[in-house]
Amino acid sequence: MHAAAVTPEVTPLRDRFGRVATDLRISLTDLCSLRCTYCMPAEGLDWLTKAQRLTDAEFVRLARIFVAHGVTSVRLTGGEPLVHRSVSDVVAALTGLDPAPEVSLTTNGVTLATQARDLAAAGLARVNVSLDTLRADRFAALTRRDRLPDVLRGIDAAAQAGLAPVKINTVLVRGQNDDEAAELLAWSLRHGYQLRFIEHMPLDADRMWSATEMVRAEEILEQLRTRFVLAPTSARGAAPAELFDVLDGPGSDDWPAARPQVGVIASVTRPFCRECDRLRLTADGQLRTCLFAHDETDLRGPLRAGATDAELGELIVTAVAGKQAGHGIGSAGFEQPRRTMSAIGG
Ligand code: SAM
Ligand code: SF4
Repeated sequence: MHAAAVTPEVTPLRDRFGRVATDLRISLTDLCSLRCTYCMPAEGLDWLTKAQRLTDAEFVRLARIFVAHGVTSVRLTGGEPLVHRSVSDVVAALTGLDPAPEVSLTTNGVTLATQARDLAAAGLARVNVSLDTLRADRFAALTRRDRLPDVLRGIDAAAQAGLAPVKINTVLVRGQNDDEAAELLAWSLRHGYQLRFIEHMPLDADRMWSATEMVRAEEILEQLRTRFVLAPTSARGAAPAELFDVLDGPGSDDWPAARPQVGVIASVTRPFCRECDRLRLTADGQLRTCLFAHDETDLRGPLRAGATDAELGELIVTAVAGKQAGHGIGSAGFEQPRRTMSAIGG
């Protein structure tokens, strides 16, 4: 918690388990240019209407209230945030807040090549690009779109624009790309990108997730250790990724990074719920305090009905106080939430 971010009369976002929320994920849009099998159905979803989506001014006003309550980092996501035409304007408005949060973005990279410079100029600090395979045929099957060359160009453009270090997010799916972990790491290290594997979570629209089939963190690390020497770094704290220094591996003489690392986000098998500092604002203005929550707090309704900043702040404080202890995946009563990953904002 940054004391400077909270004026004395404003309450920090603390829940009943003592966790303080400082990281806000904003889903700028539910629309997307890809149809990843582990996220969306082939035909897409029932998209929000323009009237249902928040306007840029509404996103920024809510973000300002979150920041006044101690949020120090804002990540733009979706759906695909780069489909939102005025994404750079939103970045500029967010980085212009006082105090200014760190603003980052998670993207599928499809149109990043043409947008990276504008985003960097608008004050974007970092970018995470999702890339699950380096093979064009697999990419087309996994995302249902043949866009691998565009994504690779986008990643390169982001690095050139100074959005560094570029982080790569990878989900391994059984039978599709589950043998590609070491290949992806070799490629990332060669380019100086930071690779993070994310365990597949039960948030897909097609409900294809399976506890027995999912590729677990342990298996990913085993695969990597067949070619690389890894050493765990210190405790991860509120950061979801467990980081490993990569001490040696093929091509190590040419790795550009001073301290090459790889991360594993084991949200399912080694959850970090006890340290979670995240909140999510959906494109239609609903506050979610957990990816797996069944309840949402409507901020759009009160905002459009003329609520003051203090009233909206009170709604946020109350919602955060009721944040659930953990996601409960694997427990008897676990139920996948109605909203899927792309509609929540991953
Ligand atoms: N469209 C952008 C992208 O793909 O980077 C941003 C939104 S996407 C929902 C954010 C991240 O969530 C991506 O890295 C994606 O791989 C990941 N994701 C989507 N569905 C997932 C699932 N069921 N389990 C784990 N990660 C998932
Ligand atoms: Fe779109 Fe990202 Fe979901 Fe893929 S993971 S369908 S790119 S929102």
